[in-house]
Amino acid sequence: MMVLTKKMIEIRSILQKVGQSSTLTLPSIVVIGSQSSGKSSVLEAIVGHEFLPKGSNMVTRRPIELTLVNTPGSTEEYGEFPDLGLKHINDFSSIQRTLTDLNLAVPDSECVSHEPIQLTIYSPNVPDLSLIDLPGYIQVVGQNQPLQLKQKISELCDKYIQAPNVILAISAADVDLANSTALRASRRVDPRGERTIGVITKMDLVDSVRGAAILNDKQYPLRLGYVGVVSRAPHSQGLFKMGSSNLLATITKNENSFFSSHPMEYGPEAGVSVGTTTLRKKLMHVLEQTMSSSLQSTSDAIRQELEEATYEFKVQYNDRPLSAESYLAESLDALKHSFKQLTEEFGRPQMHEILKSELDQKVLDLLAARYWNKPITDLLPPPTETNKIADLPKADADSLYWRRQLDASSSALTKLGVGRLATTVVATAIQDNVEALLDRSSFSNHPFARSAIMDAASTILNERFYSTSDQVENCIKPYKFEIDIEEREWTQGRQHVSDILKKELNDCETALSSLETTVGGRRKLREVMSFVDKARKGDVVVEGDGRSGAGGFSASLLSKGREAVFLRDRADIIKLRLMAVKSKQCANLKNKYQCPEVFLDAAASKLASTAVLFLNVELLSEFYYNFPRELDLRLGKHLSDADVERFAKEDPKIRRHLEVIRRKELLELVLEKMESLKQLEGLERERLASN
Ligand code: GDP
Repeated sequence: MMVLTKKMIEIRSILQKVGQSSTLTLPSIVVIGSQSSGKSSVLEAIVGHEFLPKGSNMVTRRPIELTLVNTPGSTEEYGEFPDLGLKHINDFSSIQRTLTDLNLAVPDSECVSHEPIQLTIYSPNVPDLSLIDLPGYIQVVGQNQPLQLKQKISELCDKYIQAPNVILAISAADVDLANSTALRASRRVDPRGERTIGVITKMDLVDSVRGAAILNDKQYPLRLGYVGVVSRAPHSQGLFKMGSSNLLATITKNENSFFSSHPMEYGPEAGVSVGTTTLRKKLMHVLEQTMSSSLQSTSDAIRQELEEATYEFKVQYNDRPLSAESYLAESLDALKHSFKQLTEEFGRPQMHEILKSELDQKVLDLLAARYWNKPITDLLPPPTETNKIADLPKADADSLYWRRQLDASSSALTKLGVGRLATTVVATAIQDNVEALLDRSSFSNHPFARSAIMDAASTILNERFYSTSDQVENCIKPYKFEIDIEEREWTQGRQHVSDILKKELNDCETALSSLETTVGGRRKLREVMSFVDKARKGDVVVEGDGRSGAGGFSASLLSKGREAVFLRDRADIIKLRLMAVKSKQCANLKNKYQCPEVFLDAAASKLASTAVLFLNVELLSEFYYNFPRELDLRLGKHLSDADVERFAKEDPKIRRHLEVIRRKELLELVLEKMESLKQLEGLERERLASN
């Protein structure tokens, strides 16, 4: 029939994609022999090209799984390394170089590797065969080779010469068969010689009578017999380098003339098999037979593997269908859905809040710089029964000095670059929101897509950044000259700023008590604080450079002490100012010079509200409109299938899910093919029987 091997080779290449083909290897012909037995020459004669690595330095270090695919009707001959994605290599010397590189990549210290190299050769001149070339057995371990090398090679070969593989045991005619390592190895696993083909090379090196005796060997009888060959092309090592495309023809011609010159020993009557052509035919026939007899067991193995995959799919994934595209589409939909929610939750009020709190910080800084370091007690409200500041002097709040102070402060506030600040703060908040969305989405497990999405967000924001920030700056311009505060705004500002001051006071006190803990107690902190106070007044002298410490305190303790004094003073001032803000005096908008905290807070609110109006139109709405579109652009139709696959497989859970589905599908396909092969085989058998 001779199509079985071809079909099985096709099936094998599908099974290789399943990934777990170790349990599912279809029969191959495994080539073993000692170094220099002529193993490479035989393989090259079969292929018709020189393509195997040459050299004395142990050039075959990995198994080469060689698949030959007959392509009738084509004139092209080429090789492919499917694992490496190397396709359509027409130049056989380039195949040879690649094989050499792959072999030499195995370090000298290891010398052999179990990891196979896959090579497929397509040609109208090769038979459909699947061969495995293994490192040659060695007799003596070389100088810089590991001592266990002999054993390592032997173990590697043993792995491959198991049933149902066919063993091609190569021995040279000029070496006693009793010394053939290949035959000895094959005996161990195939004691009755049922699946071993003996190849005797270098027949030209022995006398023909002896040669015929070897081929008729009775000491190591093999059911599949021996074939004698002369597979070295004449001249191939001479000055005249063979054109490799007619290697087989040259070898055949050479063999024919050699064997026909000894008709008594090698002629048709002699009952021996000789010649590379005979060997090729034999290999095809034997492999076909082996494939045929292993059809049932192979399809049983595939069926079992399929059952396992089906079970895993059901139990682990609840039979839930999934594809890389559907996964991406669902993930995108879910992200867009939660983005929609975000657009409802994050709007003007939220922008106002974050911007205002940023401005609050600026206001506090201004107050600290312009008011709280001055004899602020001058600005105290008139004493009442409840406040205890009656004995403090009171300044003339209407003096030009305090007017100028407030004007300068509000001008500093409006000129601090509100446009840029507001745009930055809001853009950052948008980006943080998107990041939080991503963290909660299935994209959190996809670094590649995640960064593409973040990039989409920042691209949109960056594009709008400068124009937005200019617009905002422009629209707050009038406030740089004058800020009119209304009664309502004043009341709100007064309430708000007292909350801010309370919080600031609380922060100071918390920091102070945590300092107490770090220095080892309140008493200790008090001592060092009083030393710092005295030093400030000049009552004591801080010796040295201050870094090495003074007054019996270490430098670090002193610096903690200074920090504590600062916090205490700030807390004291804030307490006083809080009292002022709450006083009747500050309830009245007219007393704005006495109440800079309230005024600046109200001014900051005005700035924030105006900025937000523009930010909403220029930045937020634009972003909300463009972002989903940008997502589609970057993760939608523009991605190649390979990218979509890569994306989906980034998530280990999804990868396993997809893999089990793919395995199941491939195994189903293979099984179907196997079933029809079996039927075909049955028909063929019936046909033969009826003839
Ligand atoms: P490998 O190490 O087993 O792969 O052996 P090679 O195929 O590289 O052959 C080893 C040496 O034997 C090379 O010099 C070949 O040219 C030579 N050789 C291979 N086959 C024959 C043959 O049939 N006759 C002769 N005379 N030499 C051969």
